[in-house]
Amino acid sequence: MNNLRVRAEVQGIVQGVGFRPFVYQAARKRRLSGFVRNTSYGALIEVEGAPGDLDAFFLDLREKLPPLARITSINTTRLKPEGRAEFVIQHSEAQDQRTALISPDVAVCPDCLAEMSDPLDRRYRYPFINCTNCGPRYTIITDVPYDRDKTSMRVFTMCPDCAREYHDPADRRFHAQPNACPVCGPQVELTDRAGRPLEALDPLRAASDLLRAGAIVAVKGLGGFHLAVDAANDQAVRLLRSRKRREEKPLAVMSPDLEAVRKYAFISPAEERILASIQRPVVLLAARNPSPLAPSVAPDNKYVGAFLPYTPLHHLLLKGFLALVLTSGNLSEEPICLDNQEALRRLGGIADYFLWHNRDIYLRADDSVVRAAGRKLRQVRRSRGYVPVPVFLKRPQPQVLAVGGELKNTVCLTKDDRAFLSQHLGDLENPAALDFFELTIGHLRRILDIAPEAIAYDLHPDYLSTKWALEQTGIELIGVQHHHAHIAGAMAEHHLEGPVIGLSCDGTGYGEDGRVWGGELLLCDYAGYERRGRLDYVPLPGGAAAIKEPWRMAVSYLEAAYGDEIEGLDLELLERQDPRRLDLLRQVIRKKVASPETSSLGRLFDGVAALLGLKDRAAFEGQAAMMLEMCCPEGRFEPYPYDLAREEDLWIVKPQPLIRALVLDLDRRASKEEISGRFHRTVIAFLAELARRLAAETRIRTVVLSGGCFQNQVLTEGLTRELVSEGFNVYTQELVPANDGGLSLGQAACAGARLSAAKR
Ligand code: ZN
Ligand code: ZN
Ligand code: FE
Repeated sequence: MNNLRVRAEVQGIVQGVGFRPFVYQAARKRRLSGFVRNTSYGALIEVEGAPGDLDAFFLDLREKLPPLARITSINTTRLKPEGRAEFVIQHSEAQDQRTALISPDVAVCPDCLAEMSDPLDRRYRYPFINCTNCGPRYTIITDVPYDRDKTSMRVFTMCPDCAREYHDPADRRFHAQPNACPVCGPQVELTDRAGRPLEALDPLRAASDLLRAGAIVAVKGLGGFHLAVDAANDQAVRLLRSRKRREEKPLAVMSPDLEAVRKYAFISPAEERILASIQRPVVLLAARNPSPLAPSVAPDNKYVGAFLPYTPLHHLLLKGFLALVLTSGNLSEEPICLDNQEALRRLGGIADYFLWHNRDIYLRADDSVVRAAGRKLRQVRRSRGYVPVPVFLKRPQPQVLAVGGELKNTVCLTKDDRAFLSQHLGDLENPAALDFFELTIGHLRRILDIAPEAIAYDLHPDYLSTKWALEQTGIELIGVQHHHAHIAGAMAEHHLEGPVIGLSCDGTGYGEDGRVWGGELLLCDYAGYERRGRLDYVPLPGGAAAIKEPWRMAVSYLEAAYGDEIEGLDLELLERQDPRRLDLLRQVIRKKVASPETSSLGRLFDGVAALLGLKDRAAFEGQAAMMLEMCCPEGRFEPYPYDLAREEDLWIVKPQPLIRALVLDLDRRASKEEISGRFHRTVIAFLAELARRLAAETRIRTVVLSGGCFQNQVLTEGLTRELVSEGFNVYTQELVPANDGGLSLGQAACAGARLSAAKR
């Protein structure tokens, strides 16, 4: 039988994931000759041998890939046989075209953990153990192709033992770029708060002891510094909160294993899979009550954010603990700290000790936060472990940079049929966050080799991302309306063409009429949208102040529903307020001073939460609405009445009857749970009715839900069920967050569509 030679160009995630050794072994097993090498678009393979063996080889490529590898396309061409005997791994070449996909940072694998716990192994208790199947990637890479000299490992010269593993094709560390051992690799160090090293035989054991005694330790992890404290020690957690100036926001906890997590949370099989996945996100779980965790970990919260160790260092540090609080090492809302000296400067006033090391982090990445909705994954914060895996689009589009919104910012770059979202960049409200934003854009452009034709931005003139975009010259700028971008993001993920019925509901977004939108019924595709319905406008008294103080929204809704009759109301909400401030606020609302009008559904949730006495002043965005969701019990509730009006071409939901009926419920001392249940039911009812009305007008049966309000499980699941039961196709986001963290994907898809249309 004549030999064949085939050249295969492989695209996908094939670098830094053990792909070449895998190919090497698959080829050797069948005595094929040829080579494999990394290229800028992925990997190039040439194999030569009997046709049957080649078939078997390519079957392996499809079916037996290493855990982190992912092939998106294989392009094969027939070549003339060369008759050589060997199969070799060749050195990388940097080509002009760089489309190689870089792997995210992934959790340490079981093989490495087994070695680390073996006293006879040369990497016993070595906190930087890794192999081709695990370890840091995205956060240590400066450029592609992915080789050691393009990572922060380049300063560590491998010792002979490590070098032997690295060069041995049969070894599981063959070409593992971060390969290291105690002799040649990074080292940990424990210091006091001033950065002076402490005498400790084993810095990790010493750090654990300090944590057990109640100390706050800043720990350098994979994507930046964490602040750690014993999660069972309430006093220590309180101290951390006060030093970090984070009074109420729930803190995430890391536990050594699933058994420990089960002691304070309920875990479904789906949640168990996500907790143990190689991405190791923080998973929002239903908390047990009573709980062995300190009450101050997640005060007033039915949920607890838990995750499992993802670096060997975490595994060593967590031994013997039920859980450690592990929260981003920053002052509230600034980006997570990266480098040792920076951490010392910024965290010296918070941490008692530093547990750091000398492997640099090039790019910070916060922990990802997700929740499970049945078998679906819902992203709350998409970051470490998921980035930079692209969202695959339905078809290729022009290269675009989308700069996202303001809160929970991410950016997105597109190339071919791939949309690369950045890690969570935080709230773009301070210079440090803006630096991180610019740095990440530059980094992603470099490693993905993208030269955008256009920049897509939000229409809000005050967003720092918008201002940044408008300062760029020599490039096309495309503004995309906030709520349109939300829906387009969800459409892109599900490869929908549109037009669709979009329900875009969140707290705040700049509307094209200059008002604050947030409860919107849109008819849209990628290129454009028509606004076909909304919540009734009410004043947002004091503008941004009303977002921080939900009681203001409650008064605004009461004014809308009662006007002067407010005086006769016997409401705890009104009695709680200082009479002079209340009077002032009512005047502000009536005279519309500094009170833009808003159609925001998020603000309606806030107002109702305040009416129920759940929260008059929010410690963080969305807190009041979250508390309203948390007190909503299971079961069916009677909806409150509402009005639906037709004004010009719009369907307008008027919540005045809802507010009046809710006040009657408060009057008859109905429970918070019942009122919350009825309120959620009402929102589901009027959103479903909006969709139904637009469907009747357009004959469209596809409904897309997006925007921060759909982080609310009761609302999302309830509305989906209702619409599906009426025969609608309903889409919600799974790959990117429904909140503003997913905005950049939608902006990119809209801008791509407009560019394509202009070219045609
Ligand atoms: Zn490993
Ligand atoms: Zn070594
Ligand atoms: Fe939004």
